[in-house]
Amino acid sequence: ANATPHGIPATLIPGDGIGPEIVDVAVRVFDALGSPFAWETQQAGLNALEKSGDLLPAETLDSIRRTGLALKGPLTTPVGGGFRSVNVRLREAFQLYANVRPARTIIPGRYDKIDLVLVRENLEGLYVGHEHYVPIGGDPHAVAMATGINTRAGSRRIARFAFDYAVRNQRRKVTIVHKANVLKALTGMFLETAKEVGLDYADRLEYDDRIVDACAMQLVLNPWQFDVIVSTNLFGDILSDQIAGLVGGLGMAPGANIGEDAAIFEAVHGSAPDIAGKGLANPSALLLAGALMLDHVGKPAQAQKLRDAIDAVLATDSGRTADLGGGASTSKFGDLLIERLRG
Ligand code: ATP
Ligand code: MG
Repeated sequence: ANATPHGIPATLIPGDGIGPEIVDVAVRVFDALGSPFAWETQQAGLNALEKSGDLLPAETLDSIRRTGLALKGPLTTPVGGGFRSVNVRLREAFQLYANVRPARTIIPGRYDKIDLVLVRENLEGLYVGHEHYVPIGGDPHAVAMATGINTRAGSRRIARFAFDYAVRNQRRKVTIVHKANVLKALTGMFLETAKEVGLDYADRLEYDDRIVDACAMQLVLNPWQFDVIVSTNLFGDILSDQIAGLVGGLGMAPGANIGEDAAIFEAVHGSAPDIAGKGLANPSALLLAGALMLDHVGKPAQAQKLRDAIDAVLATDSGRTADLGGGASTSKFGDLLIERLRG
């Protein structure tokens, strides 16, 4: 680990595939911005497995435990070999119950002026992993079962997070998304609990609710009616990718995983091994995750400065990477951004 002497200690995980390239740009851009972070570089993912025999080394966990803050590149979990997803392990280790996925139009495409935030419950629901088969006759997999678990405490915690987030970020409305007409217990309880929480904020925020299927359609027909959306794990997972699609796909989508004691910021995309090492990766999503991290530590002015610079570079033809139809390499994009921040 190479800790910088001054600043807010934060763990930096380069990760796999295009991770090191985009993290390298992020470090240079954060320097130019005069960011408050003192990075502790740590390994995780496939590269860590190859180097130290562990997908998620104890040193990395210790670092995050100490700093409570991480910016992480994409991590690959090998398929086969019975490895559990590193991202899920991180989520569980630090009880990162809130997944926050803001989506904002930067390059107008199918939709213009999208600005919404999905808050997804990250530890409960149908993703808790209680799946099993029931054998019948000679077929060991005759019946497949999954159990969903929502707790009142967990529902209250995520709802409170979403409403607090909305207040803190000057948003106007929270929409609670559920399927309480069919999953009456599992998501009915989530809806009731979130509405109760909403009462405490009624003087500051509007709130309403939607059934998930209707919400999915309305996101396509009229996404501008939404502001902050809060939902359970499975629905939140699906809707957050749909929302990323409204602003041009996963390449531009940042995410934050937030718990009581730690927060981990990341690009939503994967390690993209097909373009790794070629200077083709777009670092925007990771940089936007960095902006969320600045917001999180109470540096909204720096966060906004970074977002404005990213917007400005992406607004020029020469500033776009290949995935956006431009000719800028990963590091060239970084250079242009740094020029803009210094200028
Ligand atoms: P993983 O197995 O880690 O999920 P992946 O290749 O599936 O890796 P995705 O994020 O799902 O990664 O990306 C799908 C494709 O989108 C990539 O193969 C790549 O071509 C493109 N892509 C993803 N992220 C970026 C990026 N930051 N810049 C440019 N292209 C990207
Ligand atoms: Mg993928």
